Amino acid sequence: MKEIIKIHNLNKEFGKVKALNNINLSVYEGEWLAIMGPSGSGKSTLLNILSLMDSPSSGEYILNDKHLQDLSEEQKIIIRREKIGLVFQQFHLIPYLSALENVMLAQYYHSSPDEEDAKMMLEKVGLSHRISHLPSQLSGGEQQRVCIARALINNPDIILADEPTGNLDETNEQIVLNTLKELKKEGKTIILITHNPELAESADRSIHLHHGIMQ
Ligand code: ADP
Ligand code: MG
Repeated sequence: MKEIIKIHNLNKEFGKVKALNNINLSVYEGEWLAIMGPSGSGKSTLLNILSLMDSPSSGEYILNDKHLQDLSEEQKIIIRREKIGLVFQQFHLIPYLSALENVMLAQYYHSSPDEEDAKMMLEKVGLSHRISHLPSQLSGGEQQRVCIARALINNPDIILADEPTGNLDETNEQIVLNTLKELKKEGKTIILITHNPELAESADRSIHLHHGIMQ
């Protein structure tokens, strides 16, 4: 199996806080990895580095055979746009755009908006009856499904999700879980931060962080 992500002796410091302490990790293509650990253990820091939104203080990150330290900011932006879909606990939807427009905005930043494709993706997450609604007119679970549609619309190989069900009730959590299972079947690589043991159980493998150390 192909190593899509490889991290070697990776550290991240914020002043005196060592958020990540000598992390070594490989993730394989099509694998679903769960990242667990208490609050403040470095989970989001790791995900931010994996998604190229932040840089490590030291150590190596190889994504798709590319050493990240060799890439320019422009190249990183392209990789992030082409390869990575992000889902957050806070939805970060644009409040004055409809569900459909929020998804189409991601297409716009990637290449060009395609309304039919965007509608199909919203249908896939069970929201075909909500496409014209504003985020404020949607439940938390529906908003999160818009976020998932937005993360998937440009067909990324890797889905990175930071506690995507943290704000959801059980029904919506189940819907998000089922969506992740579908993505796994389609061959996507999934990295999921979660506090929820049930979600972690659906993953192929779990890692645990404690004070920035992987165990
Ligand atoms: P988790 O997601 O596991 O709750 P984080 O990765 O958010 O943990 O944080 C790990 C540690 O790094 C915490 O001590 C946190 O306060 C610190 N930290 C995270 N981001 C920053 C930042 N931008 N500036 C300073 N400290 C940070
Ligand atoms: Mg976090």
